[in-house]
Amino acid sequence: MSFPLSDRELELQRTARDFVTDLIPWEVEAEMNRGEIPPDVAKSHREMAAELGLISINMPESMGGPGYSTMEQVLIQEQSGRATNALGWVVSTGPSWIEPVVTDHQMQRWIRPTVDGDVHECYAITEEGAGSDVDGIVATARREGDHYVLDGEKWHVTSANLAAYVFFQAKLADGPNQGSHVLFFVDMDTPGVECIRVPEYSHTYGHHHWEMRFTDVRVPVENLVGSEGDGMSFSHNWFRYERLMIAARSCGAAERLIEEATAFAAEREAYGSKILDYQGIQFMLADSLTELWAARLMTYETARSIDAGVDLKVQHARCSMAKLYASEMANRVADRAVQVFGGRGFMRENVAERFYRELRVDRIWEGTSEIQRVIIADQLRKRGVSTLIG
Ligand SMILES: Cc1cc2nc3c(=O)[nH]c(=O)nc-3n(C[C@H](O)[C@H](O)[C@H](O)COP(=O)(O)OP(=O)(O)OC[C@H]3O[C@@H](n4cnc5c(N)ncnc54)[C@H](O)[C@@H]3O)c2cc1C
Repeated sequence: MSFPLSDRELELQRTARDFVTDLIPWEVEAEMNRGEIPPDVAKSHREMAAELGLISINMPESMGGPGYSTMEQVLIQEQSGRATNALGWVVSTGPSWIEPVVTDHQMQRWIRPTVDGDVHECYAITEEGAGSDVDGIVATARREGDHYVLDGEKWHVTSANLAAYVFFQAKLADGPNQGSHVLFFVDMDTPGVECIRVPEYSHTYGHHHWEMRFTDVRVPVENLVGSEGDGMSFSHNWFRYERLMIAARSCGAAERLIEEATAFAAEREAYGSKILDYQGIQFMLADSLTELWAARLMTYETARSIDAGVDLKVQHARCSMAKLYASEMANRVADRAVQVFGGRGFMRENVAERFYRELRVDRIWEGTSEIQRVIIADQLRKRGVSTLIG
């Protein structure tokens, strides 16, 4: 390891690596069964993750979590990214962004059970007409006495089929804060909450992405997160965190692809030689390794700087740069790995084929590559090169 890591960090990295290595043999079964593996196996994965301290890895001790540093979380997430079919998602994260505003009621009712791994949440922010431009959402919340009434339709709600509650983002329809964003806890079994469609996506995950409709959904005021008008700040906080974690998982995926493609190339023969002897193959692997190293250094350095307390806006730009570069790097690596495997690389039982499809979304969700560039350019204009990268 060229990047200096403490003994504790190395130990955590090893623990996560060994755990994820044990998940990998289940990938093909998941791929061939719409993302599902036998329930008893999935349960044992969850129990093992909990035992090893690999659930709710982003939750601070104040909220009952392990209190890992950003660097430690990156090391764990990088390993989780080595498995396809979202098997690595058993290494779970929770809504850590809520810490400054969570109430006792919300803590007991939703957050504690989430941290303990007993229930899961999902996020309903994106709409048919509003994705990158979150401010374009048209879902509404109206105050009626000690309740809010929620209405709207949401797209791509990830893990909705496994969630006990959903964070629903809307704009206030009336009152003194009309037009500002609000976020709510909504139990999935609340009357008026429904799944209207379960679309198929490129990847084969047991976590589905529902289209959801919320019709006259009445929730008590206690379900409001923070204050009226706070809605967008939570999304920004979450995006910043998740962008860095996407960068970490992209590095893990790229590492696995390079390892597997290199091992294959060292065995496969064509025209009487191992294909690894041909420069055409060597160059693809060399470019992949070089780009992975660059992405990993950016990701680790960003994590270290967050732990050191670097300015929030600088964090924002660095997380965007890490996500942009690492996710695009991993897509290039997956494309080359498919090429190295030849026809085998086009088979769903092959790791390169699965990653080739799965990694594509990392250039789209939590802000597309274009939106990351918009953020980076904006920070560059305001703060200059040396503030952002030293
Ligand atoms: C598998 C999956 C899971 C998801 N999970 C969730 C979830 O759990 N909860 C949730 O709320 N959302 C979720 N999303 C939504 C995701 O965050 C959005 O898809 C993403 O933010 C992009 O929005 P959009 O799809 O509406 O694309 P659009 O915003 O319509 O963008 C279309 C294209 O225009 C480009 N573009 C837009 N604005 C600009 C600009 N200013 N400059 C340059 N180019 C621009 C984009 O980069 C893109 O290429 C998920 C999406 C997917 C695919």
